[in-house]
Amino acid sequence: MSLLVIGSVAFDAIDTPFGSTGKIVGGAASYISLATTLLHKQVGLVAVVGDDFDFDFVETLKSRGTDVSGLQIKLGEKSFFWHGKYHMDMNSRDTLVTELNVLGDFDPIVPEHWQQPDFVMLGNLSPQVQLTTLNRLTKKPKLVVLDTMNFWMDIALDDLKAVLNRIDVLTINDEEARQLSGEYSLVKAARVIRAMGPKTLIIKKGEHGALLFGQSDDGKEQVFFCPALPLEEVFDPTGAGDTFAGGFIGYLASVGRTDFEAMKTAIVYGSAMASYCVEQFGTQKLASITEKDLHERLAEFKQLMSVKA
Ligand code: AMP
Repeated sequence: MSLLVIGSVAFDAIDTPFGSTGKIVGGAASYISLATTLLHKQVGLVAVVGDDFDFDFVETLKSRGTDVSGLQIKLGEKSFFWHGKYHMDMNSRDTLVTELNVLGDFDPIVPEHWQQPDFVMLGNLSPQVQLTTLNRLTKKPKLVVLDTMNFWMDIALDDLKAVLNRIDVLTINDEEARQLSGEYSLVKAARVIRAMGPKTLIIKKGEHGALLFGQSDDGKEQVFFCPALPLEEVFDPTGAGDTFAGGFIGYLASVGRTDFEAMKTAIVYGSAMASYCVEQFGTQKLASITEKDLHERLAEFKQLMSVKA
């Protein structure tokens, strides 16, 4: 099962109440690639960076099993840059700076050997680029998952609605679900958003876990909830959503399934990975964990979610 990932590969600067970083590697597709390759090895990346990027990180992606032949390097141009500042609760944040740079006119060229992927993860970037990528595939994938954010809802809502109509699963956070649907109740929001196209919706609620809305094979409506692991310290939540999405689709690609039961397990995998991501700044922690670490945390999740009734 091949898995194609697109999304931002970037520099971030992060301020938390407990400290700040200078420019460090970030970007949705960076987190997604690290997460997926822990579970599945046939992963291809389509993205763009400037020649100012940290190419040691590209080597890390390669060594972890990502095929970077779809990563474009724009000479004389700057990589995408995002600066975010977390509030005291570490659950909400403000975007201070978004410099699109190379993302501004990104033309996603999908290498020929990646034009028929089984699974596609459209990570956070312009909905127009997400749509172009889908249009460049020569076979319909088994599953297309999309992640986006309020930035694109504010400036490219029509393009976002066009791509939503072409995907199977949408992952967004609770605030974004409310913005997209105009509904406060997340149950009502899920109904409105699923009517826009995706049959399955995942609403991420940060430290309060994630909700999965979908349908079982017999057509019955289903809802599933996965908590987040209560952690003593959350150092930096940046990338937790992308890591979650990467763990989710990485698990599905590794078992070759797209049914609701498999998605339930997949959001537990996504949550387990995200629980590691937040323990250090940026991609550091995610880049260092092993399959053994992941299985230890999955066991903690099983414990957290089981009852004797
Ligand atoms: P998350 O914390 O999972 O929402 O993702 C954070 C990552 O998203 C950061 O590493 C940023 O580089 C990236 N990011 C922030 N804004 C955008 C944007 N408008 N488009 C694409 N990626 C973005």
